[in-house]
Amino acid sequence: MRIVLLGPPGVGKGTIATTIRYTHEIPHISTGDMFRDEIKKGTELGKKFASYIHEGHLVPDDLVIACVKARIEQADCNEGFILDGFPRTLEQAQVLHGEIKIDEIIHLFAYDETVVERITGRRVCEDCAAIYHQTYRPSKEDGVCDYCSGRLVQREDDKEGSVRKRLEIHCQQIRPIIDFFSREYQVIDIYAGLNDRRKVKARILKALFGHQNL
Ligand code: AMP
Repeated sequence: MRIVLLGPPGVGKGTIATTIRYTHEIPHISTGDMFRDEIKKGTELGKKFASYIHEGHLVPDDLVIACVKARIEQADCNEGFILDGFPRTLEQAQVLHGEIKIDEIIHLFAYDETVVERITGRRVCEDCAAIYHQTYRPSKEDGVCDYCSGRLVQREDDKEGSVRKRLEIHCQQIRPIIDFFSREYQVIDIYAGLNDRRKVKARILKALFGHQNL
């Protein structure tokens, strides 16, 4: 199944994608994670990504599209994948629709203040990119990933100033993307601002797979 998860930063796309990755064994393709990996490796491409990401700007479409196409061509994507953080512009959406069969599009939404609180408390595993929250989803051992024992860190762009800038960009970009996709697919809107994240997860799984079992 080829799934696209749309929604603002911090709405829970990464968390749900991590669940599906383990339960349904399809890869979670997060463009943000791909860029951060490249930055960590210190490559020339990584330096380019960092110059945009650390300022809270979007990476240019041509670079993003080339990365996603190369990733989707890999063998582990044959049975499907979950796209998280892509598309983020109308041009990316058009290229995706033109070149790849999409089965489901889920649009997660929540109020800005909910999202800001979630992102500023977010901690991410340096090694496997699993996501935690200091208050709502703490790891069993402070600062250590439950899955792989990697170190949990706060992303540079999860600081409040950067988060508000990212939300503003999302707000401008999402409407044309949804308008475009709505002409081709049934986009499933799910409110993801509930404190009880299990309810949100259950709704998403029901929409995708027809059952709520994790
Ligand atoms: P994320 O982890 O999805 O919040 O992405 C972190 C940052 O990576 C974003 O704030 C953008 O700067 C960049 N980024 C991720 N995905 C895209 C995309 N599809 N198009 C442009 N920039 C992106």
